Amino acid sequence: MLASAKGTHDILPAETATWQYVEETARRLMALAHVQEIRTPLFETTELFQRGVGEATDIVNKEMYTFQKGDRSLTLRPENTAGVVRAYIQNGLDRAPKPVKVFYLGPMFRYERPQAGRQRQFHQLGVECFGLDTPETDAALIELAMRLFETLHVPGLALEVNNVGTFEGREVFKEKLKGLLKDYLPSLCEDCQTRYENNPLRMLDCKVPGCKTLYQGREIQEFLKEDPMDEDSRRHFQEVCRILSDLGIAYTRNPMLVRGLDYYTKTVFEITSTHLGAQNAVCGGGRYNNLVKTLDGPDTPAFGWALGMERLVSLLPNAIKHELLCYVVSDSSGHALELSRTLQQEGLSAVCDWSGKPFGKQLALAAKSGAAYAVIQGESERLAGQFAVKNMQTQEQQTLSWKALLTILKKEGA
Ligand code: ATP
Ligand code: MG
Repeated sequence: MLASAKGTHDILPAETATWQYVEETARRLMALAHVQEIRTPLFETTELFQRGVGEATDIVNKEMYTFQKGDRSLTLRPENTAGVVRAYIQNGLDRAPKPVKVFYLGPMFRYERPQAGRQRQFHQLGVECFGLDTPETDAALIELAMRLFETLHVPGLALEVNNVGTFEGREVFKEKLKGLLKDYLPSLCEDCQTRYENNPLRMLDCKVPGCKTLYQGREIQEFLKEDPMDEDSRRHFQEVCRILSDLGIAYTRNPMLVRGLDYYTKTVFEITSTHLGAQNAVCGGGRYNNLVKTLDGPDTPAFGWALGMERLVSLLPNAIKHELLCYVVSDSSGHALELSRTLQQEGLSAVCDWSGKPFGKQLALAAKSGAAYAVIQGESERLAGQFAVKNMQTQEQQTLSWKALLTILKKEGA
């Protein structure tokens, strides 16, 4: 039997109602916050991700779906910040009044080891905001993410924030961190030995037990406790925290939170849920003041986040169903088709038998369909210009005019 590729999933009809509910809720909140949708291609030139996500990241090193077409190297997007930044620059979106706020929703591709909460094709909803380097921007966009989760009643939420400094401030920090870890270098895992040289901040993110114990030890923790980044980003971060508190949003500072991507500056954050398994992060993001310039655009500060749709949907009850309102029963298939069309045109969900079953058998089909009502028009009703409507739950049946029928169905269908 042909099966889907490893790490990919079908989203089946029983689940799509929940997906649509999340998508509609997100679209509504985005519209209210005047964040407009952007749709960029699913693949981009490989160079975009190499430069935009960073050569030293796991994503670029191990996780990209890259292929050659002619003399071009292309890559299925593993994330969409780089793509949105490219589109922002290429289409001159920077000419609009700042801030420019966009959101996207769609599939991402990463060659990772598939496990619960981790697929090779997964979906992200993300927001990017260009043009402002203010704490208000960071706090407002974190608040928007939290509000989306709260609107959806996502259980067990926690917000962690941290400051990863400016590019310049981080250099000083990195040297200090390397100094502290120098003596332990031989005992670190292979990845951390590499990170020590080209990306020391990422060491703090290591999942290898030996490394973890070291980084969580007193020496490193003391160093991290008082925000050790540069003055500018420290003041910025303190303001972000103050505004979050004023907005009534609970958070903790996690000095170990560095995030997987190289482009972050100043504020980073992650939202987790205790109701998820080992992969408990449902949303992450932060400020990236250097990325637009790195990708040859005008020097533009930015802030963004992305949430994992699969993980979010898995946190919600799958209770929402698309109910069928009417099953049309008639002694003439032509009339049945016409009547179900008219009901649909009135905005009411309606089906009828397409398999040519006789009138007498159609009521049984109506019962099986799960419709709330059977709308019955046999010859006698038709001659009288009336409709019999049967409540399939109570089995009550009444004969009504077209107008009275619509009144009842519209009340029920609303
Ligand atoms: P993780 O630590 O879980 O690998 P990440 O730092 O790689 O996350 P981001 O690139 O920031 O994640 O993506 C934002 C969100 O997208 C994550 O919080 C998660 O919910 C979701 N996500 C990331 N990778 C996957 C994946 N392979 N499968 C499903 N969801 C994912
Ligand atoms: Mg990852």
